[in-house]
Amino acid sequence: MSRSRPWGLYVHLPWCRYRCPYCAFVVDARKDPPHEAYQDALLREWHLRRPLFVGSPDSLYFGGGTPSRSPLSTFDSLIQAIQPLPGAEITAEANPEDVTSQLLADWKRVGITRISLGVQSFFPEIGARLGRRRGSRVAREVVERTLDVGFRSVSIDLIFGGPGQTEVAWEAELLEVERLAVPHVSLYGLTQEEGTAFGRLGECLERAEDDRWRWMYDHAVQRLAAQGIHRYEVSNFARAGHESVHNQHYWSPDPWLGLGVGAHSWWPDHQRIKNRADIGGYLEAADPIEEAEPADHPLAAWDYLWSMLRHRDGIDRARYQELTGLALKVPASLADFLEESPERIRLRDAGYPVADAVARRLYDALPSMKRRSPLPVMTPP
Ligand code: SF4
Repeated sequence: MSRSRPWGLYVHLPWCRYRCPYCAFVVDARKDPPHEAYQDALLREWHLRRPLFVGSPDSLYFGGGTPSRSPLSTFDSLIQAIQPLPGAEITAEANPEDVTSQLLADWKRVGITRISLGVQSFFPEIGARLGRRRGSRVAREVVERTLDVGFRSVSIDLIFGGPGQTEVAWEAELLEVERLAVPHVSLYGLTQEEGTAFGRLGECLERAEDDRWRWMYDHAVQRLAAQGIHRYEVSNFARAGHESVHNQHYWSPDPWLGLGVGAHSWWPDHQRIKNRADIGGYLEAADPIEEAEPADHPLAAWDYLWSMLRHRDGIDRARYQELTGLALKVPASLADFLEESPERIRLRDAGYPVADAVARRLYDALPSMKRRSPLPVMTPP
């Protein structure tokens, strides 16, 4: 791979007001986060990794957690230190309840170009069942205010299939998207992840059964397409020109660097890196890496397959083989879900709602791989 490939940089800001019952991310809901120490640790990690990446990133993404809980100095100091390419996409995630006119003006001033709002639902009764205490009450007004400020793009997250959400209620969410003319939407079907409050409820949680979940997804695809908002990844939909530059690095073989507690990276030498996920350890560590695996490690081969398949461009077969040493073969049983050419394998419409299961079958059809020892971690010169 050419070392001049475009690359993205992710910064994890883990602080949240509270932990939502469905959330399995690395978050910390303490009252007084150690913002300054964490900012110093992020800058330390950046300087440690800098020599591994050629040139500057074309995207910078502040995700979380709830980045809108971090002080302006964190964004400012990181943007100054990282120096993304001129015209780079710089995204910050925000919870609607934190978004004030002042915050938007400050973020614009330090160079943020794109806002991703964790709306989840525009309706307080649905939001409350997702444990979103205030955000849904103010979501409409915040989306309008954010769109008015003139960022290059604005995205919203919505959750479907949650407790108490009927087909009619989901249709109402999609009507709000249309009314507000949001240019980018990320849709997530509610799942019950292990270790979350919803996960612990098991069967007791009333959520959409498979048929209704599927209807909600397919209906959203059609309703958004009718508004000119097209699916470019399983969960992501955009008007032309509003596709996220940063997120598309995740669904391609491009390298990306993740800074912060629990962050993942794909280094330019194709190592798959995972940082330690405990805040205390991250703050103290001289180097916060917890795992490092080469691209032909089974976990890395799975990650590449799963992530590239999600994007509308699908998997570049030659590139996949170059990275992992494995030749992909589509089993006949997946013909309804995948289309293939000598160059690429892509999801068909019927494959998108079941993309994870399709990826798993495709992966299972690969020749068995011997687990290799992780390569020694590449260290900066
Ligand atoms: S605000 Fe977002 S990151 Fe924080 S707990 Fe809720 S879903 Fe997770």
